Amino acid sequence: MKKILIAEKLDQEAIDHFKNKTNYEFIILNGTPNRKIILEKIGDVNALIIRSKTIVDRELLDAGKNLEVIGRAGVGTDNIDVDYAEKKGILVINAPEESLDSVADLAMGLIISTCRHFKTAVNRTSECNFNRKDLSGLELRNKVLGIIGFGRIGRRVAHRARAFGMKILAYDPYISSNLKDELGTELTSFEDILRKSDVISIHVPLNKTTFHLIKWEHFLLMKKGVYFINTSRGGIVDSEALLRAINEGIVKAAGLDVIEKSLEKNEEFLKNDKIIVTPHIGASTIDAQKNVSWRILEGTIDVLNGLAPEFPVNFPRLDSETKDIYTPYRQLSINLAKLLVKLNLPFDSIILNYPESLPENLRKTLTRHFLAVFLKPLVSTRISIVNSVLIAKERNLGIVESVRSGKSFENLLSVQIMDHNKVASEIIGKVYSDGYIEIIKINDFNISFSPTGKIFIIKHVDKPGMIGKITTFLGNNNINIAELQVARHEKSKTQLMVLKTDQEPSDELVNKMKSIDDIILVIYHNF
Ligand code: NAD
Repeated sequence: MKKILIAEKLDQEAIDHFKNKTNYEFIILNGTPNRKIILEKIGDVNALIIRSKTIVDRELLDAGKNLEVIGRAGVGTDNIDVDYAEKKGILVINAPEESLDSVADLAMGLIISTCRHFKTAVNRTSECNFNRKDLSGLELRNKVLGIIGFGRIGRRVAHRARAFGMKILAYDPYISSNLKDELGTELTSFEDILRKSDVISIHVPLNKTTFHLIKWEHFLLMKKGVYFINTSRGGIVDSEALLRAINEGIVKAAGLDVIEKSLEKNEEFLKNDKIIVTPHIGASTIDAQKNVSWRILEGTIDVLNGLAPEFPVNFPRLDSETKDIYTPYRQLSINLAKLLVKLNLPFDSIILNYPESLPENLRKTLTRHFLAVFLKPLVSTRISIVNSVLIAKERNLGIVESVRSGKSFENLLSVQIMDHNKVASEIIGKVYSDGYIEIIKINDFNISFSPTGKIFIIKHVDKPGMIGKITTFLGNNNINIAELQVARHEKSKTQLMVLKTDQEPSDELVNKMKSIDDIILVIYHNF
């Protein structure tokens, strides 16, 4: 039975729901993550679910010998060594959409709090001081909000701010300017945002290029008296520069849900009336936490059940339309790999031919599935759909994904195993509209059978008596034949027989069959 280790607190109702719905064993630590206990248990589990506190480093990943998937209940994966997980073939998934509205709400809250001097106002009234003379704030209507990073949260903030009558400018070099009309927002330059905005709100991810994206030179370009909001990550803003900009009156007030580590003990910063700091509570709403628990449990279980991950971090994402056709194609690519493995041929490259109608993401995913099965007997490390392409590259194998157009290639998936630029073997499979799959060609032989059950594929000399010889041999060994098909290749005077049997033959029996006169090749596989 597969096991799921839940290392941090998740919604109990969600856990109970999925416990009842699946046969998997749940190991629930459900509190502050205890590294020692996680390390003790990790070797035995197939899935690990965490929030932001568990550090999933090399030590933990090495110890997770059976780990297939790590579910991060939330967005950021900074606490996971994703590259190493990928190398080890462990899928990382997250639940990136469940807290977006909560973060956008908080950004709006910080905009209002800074523009209306909440910190001073509340501090004063808590000391029974109702003086409001210096507390006149800013009305949001007609003010310019500059959003840096116009992704999921940035757009949600824009949507909310529009309801307050704000004019929105956005800067995001990685989205199409065609989105302008659709989003009803003016996309502009970074500098324009800095120069024109009354309020600036940051919503970019933290990475090498966005680290200290906002430096002193940028504060110098801002309108004097700008309000500055950051709910993304602390490292995106140079804190020294921000503090200076506040002290010099460039920034009138800042609302920060995230700050750089160095500021966490800086009292001058934290006690400054012009700076509102919240302890990274953007996603901390009852709704977000609940939704994230449901989503990550569902996603993790989907992966353990062999379904395409909805929010993969180290794997191509498939949209919902693609998912409908994913399952039969996935099954076919795996079955093609299983058959080709049995041929045990030397090869230096592989060509996977896909019908043009398959979306690129799906083609890439199917290649990963094929390689994970096909290369498995050749590698000593663990291989899965997550690292199979990496492993192929490490071995310098040529992997070619080719697209075939035209009616005759519709629904066909073919794999050619190449050695020194020659086709060593080619198998073609077909997916029907109802999801039924068939192998329709093996090398020179046109044949059609569904790759299910116990199957012999036997190549033999095309001469009288061969079929009788083979069926009698099986019968004498108490193997009943359920189905039999023969295809012929006239030029080579050979035939290919595909036999489905009711009983499983022993390895010894398969080997014995190989030594029957005029039999060239015997493959047996229980699909
Ligand atoms: P997203 O990926 O949907 O959007 C980010 C956008 O930033 C993308 O459109 C991208 O093109 C853009 N971008 C990247 N580099 C840029 C650059 N140099 N300049 C301008 N734009 C750039 O991400 P999201 O879900 O909207 O999250 C945004 C941020 O919010 C992330 O940093 C995330 O970690 C943070 N976040 C914070 C909390 C919290 O609790 N405060 C919760 C969730 C997410």
